Amino acid sequence: MLFRTLTAALLAAALALPALAQEPKREITHIAGDVWRFQNNFHTTVFVVTSAGVVVTDPINAEAAAWLKAEIARRFAKPVTHLVYSHSHPDHASGGAVFADTATVIAQENAPPEIDGVAPDIRFSERLNFTVGNHTFELTSLGPGHGSDMLAMVIRPENVAFVVDVVSPGRLPYKDFPGADIAGLIEQTRRVEALDFAILAPGHSRLGDKADAVEAREYVEWLRAAVAAELTAGKSVAEIVAGLDTGAYPDWGAYGIWRDLNIQGMARWLKQSGEVP
Ligand SMILES: [Zn+2]
Repeated sequence: MLFRTLTAALLAAALALPALAQEPKREITHIAGDVWRFQNNFHTTVFVVTSAGVVVTDPINAEAAAWLKAEIARRFAKPVTHLVYSHSHPDHASGGAVFADTATVIAQENAPPEIDGVAPDIRFSERLNFTVGNHTFELTSLGPGHGSDMLAMVIRPENVAFVVDVVSPGRLPYKDFPGADIAGLIEQTRRVEALDFAILAPGHSRLGDKADAVEAREYVEWLRAAVAAELTAGKSVAEIVAGLDTGAYPDWGAYGIWRDLNIQGMARWLKQSGEVP
């Protein structure tokens, strides 16, 4: 009995160990010119070290933002002058108070009055361009789809576009499109494609370019048509999940874990939106 209790205790300790040892993966990498990428586990943001201060984007969460703020101070010795939210979803937009002491906070006008306790100083409807030191920032509303307050930010002269959740290069859309209006998501992606940029810096996945936005849209459009055709032919969602030929996408990230969810989410949206009776 004692042995068994000891074994159970050791097992419990061993199981607890990875959790205790699990530090978030945080990393700063160079994109181009004065544009840098910050990774916190599976979320990424960009920041720009201009001649007149640092422009940061999504804070991700308070711990991540505090880490990034300290790194920016240590490496570049410049204040954070602006904080731009891609959108208000909490997994990207929490922790902004860390930067709000020195930063002008900018969001699209449909963002809530406060984003994790931070009230944006500047809101805009369609477009907002501003200059900080030797860089220009072009903000474009992407309209409703994934969220209703999504913007894209193009940084010049590097021609880097920061685009979150609408396009994740080389990776399937997240799970079952939670909360998304998929027709709107396709339109958001078209708005990204219409922007003038060379490098796409997303909120998830690897860096990409305009071709990744086109491929992301084409995948969602293909899935929409394919699932609609199967539903219209009278198949159940389970039958579609089992039988749909998604063989063009097996090398995309998260294919193994999100393929079935993508189909289920698409079927749900097609029915909810009335596209398929
Ligand atoms: Zn989101």
